[in-house]
Amino acid sequence: MLNIKYNKNKKFSLPASIIMTFFIALNVHFFVIAGRTGLEAIGAWILTVFYISVYFLMLYTGNISKYRRIFFVTATLIFFPAFIAILFETRGSMILTGKDVFMSETPFCHIVTPMTIIPYMLFKSVIFPAQVSVGHASIYSMFIIWLIATLTIGRGWCSWICFYGGWDEGVSRIAKIPVIKLDPKSNKIRYFNFAVLAFVVLASLTTLTAVYCELLCPFKMITEFGEITDMKAFISTIIFILTFFSLVIVLPYLTKKRFQCMSFCPFGAFQSLVDKVSLYRVRIDTEKCIQCMKCVESCPTMSLTEEIIKEGKGKSSITCTKCGECMDICPKGAIDYQFAFAQTPKNPAWLNLAKRLSGARGILKKALAAMLVSFNEIISPRALLSFSGFTIGMIISTSFGLGTVHRLLNLIVNGSFLL
Ligand code: SF4
Ligand code: SF4
Repeated sequence: MLNIKYNKNKKFSLPASIIMTFFIALNVHFFVIAGRTGLEAIGAWILTVFYISVYFLMLYTGNISKYRRIFFVTATLIFFPAFIAILFETRGSMILTGKDVFMSETPFCHIVTPMTIIPYMLFKSVIFPAQVSVGHASIYSMFIIWLIATLTIGRGWCSWICFYGGWDEGVSRIAKIPVIKLDPKSNKIRYFNFAVLAFVVLASLTTLTAVYCELLCPFKMITEFGEITDMKAFISTIIFILTFFSLVIVLPYLTKKRFQCMSFCPFGAFQSLVDKVSLYRVRIDTEKCIQCMKCVESCPTMSLTEEIIKEGKGKSSITCTKCGECMDICPKGAIDYQFAFAQTPKNPAWLNLAKRLSGARGILKKALAAMLVSFNEIISPRALLSFSGFTIGMIISTSFGLGTVHRLLNLIVNGSFLL
């Protein structure tokens, strides 16, 4: 008899893993390989092998979070070298001058989406100095990607797509055990970024300037520094350095939590608020749960609490980034993704048919049974969420990621990282 119990070990069958990986390969071909020539084409093939292997292993081993993390952190690490190199190639430095701002020569960053949408709706004024419709990082293209991602994975953006989130996720995994153990009962800190969101939206509305970018953003450290022309610019540069080292490096390392995403990022808070429109949720099967609290300890954003488990609430809190960490660690397989609009049927008709066919004689009947099992896996929320998250994450990081691989090859062949 075939083992057709979906998700018993959270692994996908070989046919289902191959079929899903084939669709990822089509996306990779379209977004990564098509139209590349020379060294860039070689870089595209290197990235392709990486993407396809990681996605296949994600499904075939069932360790969604482990392979998501490898993909997510790598996408972050290869994003920034090309981003910085392009600044040097086009401006000669990482300094953002007043003229660059005036000419709107700033790539649009998703973190300021809420601070852009709200003033635009109220005043029909775009306060972020970026191009509206030209280039891959224009307001227009970033807004379309954000909308699609929000409707599919919601706050999952923070664990599958965000090229900043990979920083604190990577750093938070360096230490084996936390140096500072945060008490899971005092987890109100995860709501602090809602206060940051309220502050920056109000401040942006009042001043009609991009307050978060000008004053607070930790990632200015690794993108474009504002030119230091006065005391305000000097103080904000000090704040950028402090927020980067404290929130992105030191605290994630010491606590093993994603501190910047969990407590400071206004975009993360915004995604939590709009997550209701997304297709997927994280649910806990309270009948399977033995209340071991491993998921509570492992959650990098403190979105599961002892209270949620003990009271059998059966779902993570709104700050959940759908990373899958709790699913990988749960010894009972009690946690999984679910569709927001419907319960995943435990014994759908096609699985019952597969059960009957797998016990019957004849190779065709057995093959049909295997196909039905694969079909059941492919339409599962776990497969569809990972497919959406992986595809959007790949699209958003590819141009800079490929730029880094291309430049590394250029460094080896021609001796220069700059093109
Ligand atoms: S509840 Fe689970 S899926 Fe959500 S952030 Fe925590 S570990 Fe990740
Ligand atoms: S890890 Fe699994 S079994 Fe343990 S408390 Fe969490 S849901 Fe329950």
